[in-house]
Amino acid sequence: MKYAKVSGELPGPNASDIIAAMKKNCYDSTFTYPLVIAGGNGCVIRDVDGNSFLDFTSNIGACPLGYSHPDVTAVLADMSRNGAHKIAGQDFYCKEHSDLAEQLLSVLPAGFKMFFTNSGAEAVENAIKVAYRKRFNEGLPILPGVSCTGAFHGRTLGALSFTYSKPVQKAGFPELAAIRIRFCTADGDSEIDAIEKVLAENQVAFVLSEIVQGEGGYNVASKKFVQNLRNATKKYAVPLIFDEVQSGMGRTGKWWAFEHYDVVPDIMSTAKALQVGATGYKGKDYDPGQQGVLSSTWGGGSRIDLAVGVTVIEVIKRDRLLYNALAMGDRLKKGLIDLVGKKGIIDVRGIGLMVGVEFDTKASRDSALIRAFRSGLLLLPAGQKAIRMIPPLVIGIGEIDEGLELMASI
Ligand code: PLP
Repeated sequence: MKYAKVSGELPGPNASDIIAAMKKNCYDSTFTYPLVIAGGNGCVIRDVDGNSFLDFTSNIGACPLGYSHPDVTAVLADMSRNGAHKIAGQDFYCKEHSDLAEQLLSVLPAGFKMFFTNSGAEAVENAIKVAYRKRFNEGLPILPGVSCTGAFHGRTLGALSFTYSKPVQKAGFPELAAIRIRFCTADGDSEIDAIEKVLAENQVAFVLSEIVQGEGGYNVASKKFVQNLRNATKKYAVPLIFDEVQSGMGRTGKWWAFEHYDVVPDIMSTAKALQVGATGYKGKDYDPGQQGVLSSTWGGGSRIDLAVGVTVIEVIKRDRLLYNALAMGDRLKKGLIDLVGKKGIIDVRGIGLMVGVEFDTKASRDSALIRAFRSGLLLLPAGQKAIRMIPPLVIGIGEIDEGLELMASI
């Protein structure tokens, strides 16, 4: 093995101390295995005990250029001399805010305007606010929004209302009015036309969907389903929101997963790989029309993150990482398909470097995650019994093949 190197028991002594302190002092959130990150290089993460792990998570897609990327470290060095690295970014202007908007708009269809926030949930939250606000501006009543089974749109209360991936995320919390349709992965699904009926029978404020469901299980939407969403929302003049927080920024081999479907949304959200949250809306139709409708202290003001976000886009363009995502994604999927029928693996799916591996049971999925971790391969769960593979977009053949060898050996 060239990349992964684990010696001794996990967690090691330093990791054990930190985890014990965190368990004492912090809410025990969504940790899957006892990894305490110290640093990283390329597609390799080092833990605090000197072990090296091949990272097929990119920190849920948030580190698309891997670790210690020279272009990113140059930006960090530059920003360290700046003296005002974090400002109230919706109250004061800065160049990084302007540069990131310009870069993002250069990879989006024409006509969008951007609003920056801190997180994916906030990006979705503001996407639905833009849709509600359009109705308000037109003197229309507040109505339910539509979202899909298996959807994950974040955990703030607005976004959570339209999340349906796991009951634990929603139990006990109040909700905005919502109508749920089935997320269809096959053109032949009996519910493929459900959106037409929902919009014919109900007045709604928006339709919100992912294109490739992330947390819900790496489910890839059927082409007909996505095109039906676009056609029906156009027919009934309802805004269509695509949530590209996980699938965006080149992850699927195109800048946006919706590009694989020949459709363009009216409003969209992205975050993770971008380093900040972003809500994009068709400026002509959806501008809130008044200052102060949307704002936040740090949105557009975390200048290091904005500057790294600019670099991420520049490097994806310069180093042809969209092509790399497709090529490496194909290699990864082919290798995984050879494992179907072994180790409880029953299905492999995905687009580009957004690859899901379905297991026969939750128990075999959970056990595979831990065995992979102990062998030096970092993976994450998705849905009820799938694993997501979402390595950095800079990944090469050597790392893909080592990841496949580790999967075959666990
Ligand atoms: N939307 C999608 C599609 C996501 O995958 C996520 C996070 O996983 C979110 C929204 C929420 O993003 P965040 O965790 O940054 O709030």
